[in-house]
Amino acid sequence: MQPGVTIWRCRTCGIGYFPQRLLCPRCHGGEWEQDRVYEAVIEEVSTIRHMIGQTDWTPLRIASVRTSDGMAITVGLRDESGPGAVVALSEEGTAPYGQALRPNR
Ligand SMILES: [Zn+2]
Repeated sequence: MQPGVTIWRCRTCGIGYFPQRLLCPRCHGGEWEQDRVYEAVIEEVSTIRHMIGQTDWTPLRIASVRTSDGMAITVGLRDESGPGAVVALSEEGTAPYGQALRPNR
């Protein structure tokens, strides 16, 4: 597990995306540089209770989070964090995960 999630930042206008886009939706630039984000705030949580073709599926919580530089990404949740909680981002392979950094109070 690696701390942070890789994002791609447009060299022309500086906006960040995850996953990578072919062209920047804002300025249509096509050159990117990699960057990392480490923190995000949870906006919404949902649970995937069933997965087609999986009989021993463990319910998976996923969250829509807003990163510290304003990007919206979807991550797997490693704990019971809810909306408003600040999570530390990490990567396992290419999959992004979040885990509470501080309690939601
Ligand atoms: Zn751009």
